[in-house]
Amino acid sequence: MNILVLNCGSSSVKFQIIETDLDLIEKNADKRLAGGLIERVVGQALITLEVEGQAKIRRAEPLRDHRDAIDYILRWMISPDSKISNINSLAGIHAVGHRVVHGGEKFTRSVMIDDAVISQIEDSIELAPLHNPANLKGIHAARELLGPGVPQVAVFDTAFHSTMPETSYLYAIPYQLYRRHRIRRYGFHGTSHRYVAYRYRQIMGLKREETNIITLHLGNGCSACAIKNGNSMDTSMGFTPLEGLVMGTRGGDMDPSLIEFIRNKEGMTVREIDTMLNKQSGLLGVSGLTNDMRELLDEEAEKQDRRARLAIDIFCMRVKKYIGAYLAEMGGADAVVFTGGIGENSAAIRERICDGLECIRLGLDKKKNSATINGKEGEISSSGATLKALVIPTNEELLIARDTVRTVKNVPRRW
Ligand code: ADP
Repeated sequence: MNILVLNCGSSSVKFQIIETDLDLIEKNADKRLAGGLIERVVGQALITLEVEGQAKIRRAEPLRDHRDAIDYILRWMISPDSKISNINSLAGIHAVGHRVVHGGEKFTRSVMIDDAVISQIEDSIELAPLHNPANLKGIHAARELLGPGVPQVAVFDTAFHSTMPETSYLYAIPYQLYRRHRIRRYGFHGTSHRYVAYRYRQIMGLKREETNIITLHLGNGCSACAIKNGNSMDTSMGFTPLEGLVMGTRGGDMDPSLIEFIRNKEGMTVREIDTMLNKQSGLLGVSGLTNDMRELLDEEAEKQDRRARLAIDIFCMRVKKYIGAYLAEMGGADAVVFTGGIGENSAAIRERICDGLECIRLGLDKKKNSATINGKEGEISSSGATLKALVIPTNEELLIARDTVRTVKNVPRRW
């Protein structure tokens, strides 16, 4: 089956076309046929399109909304211009898999989209006011443009974490707040943590129940996940993605009393402070320079910039703290797995995170660590390490495509 994977953000549409099916999943032989990104969707949009194995195409076109953007992608896909193998009409798209950020407590696995599912995703808008409306725009547009004959599946960022026990997902605040408003930890990046855990057990030849690892998704957004017996047991992002690790522009954990204090001292509104904590904090906030880890590492190396170093050090220390916390929570683990733009590409950051962790029998092999970058997968720990370290590039789109096939064919998910 050719699956169109759609990831709609507030002003962007990312897509991939992946050829997959039950037998291809079994053989790990799925194929990415094409992909791309449309940014600045409202206005003069920037379009990047790529057919596998060919050069990237970049264009600028005026697009009004998400529907226009998806219409553009579909028309490009079937045009002679793109020459995607075996797709020359819309009938060549057999199903659509949508990334949906928030499934609330309702969705614990991927589901076929119908009117009832749409209204339940709408119910979760107040939990993800920036993301779910964009995801819904993508769903409506794809339904309209492809027609009711093409099945659509929703894959939720929160679903993998639905196995967390109450002791992980409840905040220690009055219980009625959970009862009345479902205030709790939901966690995000679930598709990424789940994919990485799946690859880990494949590499190691383990069963799902034997998977006991800490996964670290370190990208622009960052989160850690404690995976015990194959299930998410705890994760660092919370009610929103703000909690937990230090990220590009988010501060992660902090004392909530800061909000009232900053409001008084700086004359800011709560909404402004919320924006500051989400958009102007983290690596950007501490360094005063950039949210981009690669640039910060360059600033530190070339100019010995003190605040660049400080931002990186706070980032690494927070990750270290979560590794320790999750080891204690899980009663030990077999491996720590790095993924995401920083986790996959920066040997220096991995080294700084693991520095001093010989005390928990985690030591890196310098050579393996520095060689495992740019999409490479593998173990990077030293031979004596009993807590292994691995790098596994994430592939959320592939998992969305696979879940779409399994859901359409009504095959129970094994992950
Ligand atoms: P997103 O969360 O938006 O998907 P990515 O997973 O692509 O983002 O991660 C982006 C982050 O990865 C940026 O901070 C970028 O600087 C960082 N990054 C990418 N390559 C490297 C590298 N070689 N060294 C350090 N950081 C890197």
